[in-house]
Amino acid sequence: MIDRTGKDCTGCYACVSACPKACIRMEENKEGFWYPKIQKEQCVKCNLCEKACPVLSKIPNHKTEKDIHVYAVTHTNEKTRTASSSGGAFSALAETVLEQGGVVFGAAFDENYAVHHIFVEEVEDLSKLRGSKYVQSRIGKAYEQAEAFLKEGRPVLFSGTACQTSGLLGYLGRDYENLYTQDLICHGVPSPMVWRKYLEYRQTLERSKIKKIFFRDKGHGWHNWHLAIDFENGTHYAQSQFQDKMIVSYLRGKCSRLSCYDCKFKQKCRTADFTLADFWGIQDFAPELDDDKGISSCYVNSEKAQLLFERAKIHLKVTELDFNMAVSGNLAMIESEHLPENRNDFLKEMKRKPFEMAYGKCIDEMSFGTKIRWGMRRLLGNKQYDALKALGKRK
Ligand SMILES: Cc1cc2nc3c(=O)[nH]c(=O)nc-3n(C[C@H](O)[C@H](O)[C@H](O)COP(=O)(O)OP(=O)(O)OC[C@H]3O[C@@H](n4cnc5c(N)ncnc54)[C@H](O)[C@@H]3O)c2cc1C
Repeated sequence: MIDRTGKDCTGCYACVSACPKACIRMEENKEGFWYPKIQKEQCVKCNLCEKACPVLSKIPNHKTEKDIHVYAVTHTNEKTRTASSSGGAFSALAETVLEQGGVVFGAAFDENYAVHHIFVEEVEDLSKLRGSKYVQSRIGKAYEQAEAFLKEGRPVLFSGTACQTSGLLGYLGRDYENLYTQDLICHGVPSPMVWRKYLEYRQTLERSKIKKIFFRDKGHGWHNWHLAIDFENGTHYAQSQFQDKMIVSYLRGKCSRLSCYDCKFKQKCRTADFTLADFWGIQDFAPELDDDKGISSCYVNSEKAQLLFERAKIHLKVTELDFNMAVSGNLAMIESEHLPENRNDFLKEMKRKPFEMAYGKCIDEMSFGTKIRWGMRRLLGNKQYDALKALGKRK
């Protein structure tokens, strides 16, 4: 049964979606990740869950490196490019599919800034999907919805991490001429529990609810990207990837899903039609293309994808580059992130304590003074703490 996947389970929802008895549901574990739980009494042992699972069953893939073309691309619309994580390759592919009456699936924030897969049918709604959200996205019913559109004959672009696009292929169990899958070079997916705690921490600090989040703000350049947050009270937070505590936790590998440290989907020849990433290394390979405003690498992995890419070119500036050179600049294509020693302790602490305490203990030890200040703020609440501080200053 599907629970054989153990630590390799990616939480992709293929098993949940495939079960004809609807007897598998996702439950959040102590680390904040979803794992399938089977209602054993209702299970008829049909094994469709195992067949759909992209970890237990191999997804057919006949591609070779020769078939793949790699392009450095930037969107011609500067606003779209700025709002995208790298060069806006995703938006160009998505626009092309929508222009053909198609449907695009991708990751979006909900009203609480949790991340879910949704679909859009209008170009104006693409902004919901645009931009990386560095937290695991919940697939929910997206595979079933995509299948319904495919059966209607509408073109579908399904964008997600490689485990998610493979999960879709596993669930569908066959290829569709009108389906385009697009995966990413992926560092790993952070825990939704850590993300919730981080949001709580930021809102407590700013004393305001969040209005807008942008993971990849390029105000200081694409290479030096910042996580930026607008708050309802008008304040603005932006901190670099080297300083923001959520991003530092993520990039140091402290909060990714266990399966990410030994990712089964890291390979040069992907099952997806397209693979997108930041074109890291472009400053060395083709410095004339790097204006520090963001550039995507777009791996076109299949003939079908090449046809769509040719149409998408009306939205793009394109330069073809060498496949192995591109991979050498972005080894996350083939290598999983390293599992750091105290990753489990960090997540245990995070479950029990406020974000800043867990971060202080496992990543960046807080000074004694900061610990006291945080403890008092928690104990007294913001208003009383500020009053006490003001009193201290007057003395
Ligand atoms: C979790 C994660 C880790 C990544 N790690 C790396 C990395 O190590 N190296 C690298 O070069 N690039 C990485 N990327 C890819 C990079 O951040 C850009 O998404 C990519 O360069 C495409 O950018 P774009 O400008 O074309 O489009 P954008 O508009 O920025 O891309 C948006 C697309 O990403 C999808 N997406 C956003 N968040 C998620 C999510 N949480 N789960 C699934 N899909 C999502 C959206 O659905 C949309 O299709 C990662 C992306 C994600 C989501």
